[in-house]
Amino acid sequence: MQPFVFQRANDPSAALQALAARGGTTPTEAPVQALAGGTTLIDLMKLDVMRPTTVVDINPLSSAWSQINLDGGNLRLGALARMADVAAHPEIQNAYPVVADALKLAASAQLRNMASLGGNVMQRTRCTYFRDISYGNCNKRNPGSGCAAMDGINRMHAVLGTSDQCIATYPGDFAQSLIALDGAVEITGGSGIRSIPFAQLHRQPGNSPQIETTLAPGELISGFTISGHWPRSVYLKARDRQSYEFALASAAVALDMQNGVVRDARLALGGVATVPWRAREAEGLLKGQKFDDALAGRVAEVAFSGAVPRKHNAFKIALGKRVVARALHQAATMEV
Ligand code: FAD
Ligand code: SF4
Repeated sequence: MQPFVFQRANDPSAALQALAARGGTTPTEAPVQALAGGTTLIDLMKLDVMRPTTVVDINPLSSAWSQINLDGGNLRLGALARMADVAAHPEIQNAYPVVADALKLAASAQLRNMASLGGNVMQRTRCTYFRDISYGNCNKRNPGSGCAAMDGINRMHAVLGTSDQCIATYPGDFAQSLIALDGAVEITGGSGIRSIPFAQLHRQPGNSPQIETTLAPGELISGFTISGHWPRSVYLKARDRQSYEFALASAAVALDMQNGVVRDARLALGGVATVPWRAREAEGLLKGQKFDDALAGRVAEVAFSGAVPRKHNAFKIALGKRVVARALHQAATMEV
């Protein structure tokens, strides 16, 4: 780990001022980094993958930025709310089980106590070649250097949203619940606060895998919002072991049903794509239809129709389809 200057930001303007100096073409490469729970940033600094010269602790903003508000039909979550607090919130468990479960099934209890929602959605890929600087060829870490995963061990890598430059999986869970529920992300920067659909935050790798989000240098995520209630919703996650593990394949499902007929449906996939992945074409098959497991199977087929397998990860397509079908079944049959 290289030496760095540690600063504490006592209010949003101090944080923004410190981060405005960060320069760099992307927030993740910038020499000034915000520190929330530190559970990803410090890891990557120890590995020398991220080498900020200044780290700005934004935790003093917690009183303003860690609030959980259920106001009427809407939910607002502050970016510094801890994963554990949101997962354990009784009203979120009732009105948004997909959100509570996505958080509860992530990482470990200790990590969830430390880790913030903002840091969670900004976490970087777990691609082994990205996290090990002894591999020179990683387009995300060294643009233009190639991709060691393409012909390497790519069991954990993505089958959707990949490019010939990068096949790294987006690793988080919470993001799938946000994208499924049409969540929005509130971004605070030097020129004020803007809100964008969460679906517009992450970028597919294309020809520039090093640019992971649409956040501009100097901007911070201050919160997330979700409109409406989604009590009939589920997050299902398949992984190599039952806890403390990233998804091999996951599905966030939300249904609005009446008398067995689906009025509205949302489906997002995790563990299989380069970004939080909304399966819009597949979810469209459900609308207006009487739910049964045969329909769920067809939806799962369509969800993976564009998947591109590599040498070691073709199993994710079969697994992912089963996860989608089972998550749909669970959501359709749950008591609400
Ligand atoms: P930090 O480490 O403080 O920050 C991470 C990045 O986000 C930094 O670049 C930082 O500058 C930036 N950042 C932080 N806050 C903001 C903000 N408000 N605005 C803009 N940028 C910001 N996650 C899962 O989802 N599922 C899992 O199964 C899972 N398993 C894990 C297992 C292990 C062993 C570990 C170590 C982590 C695992 N994680 C998993 C990841 C974990 O959830 C993240 O490390 C955590 O959520 C990051 O939050 P943080 O507050 O600690 O972020
Ligand atoms: Fe780097 Fe992406 Fe290739 Fe992994 S998949 S080695 S992150 S370019």
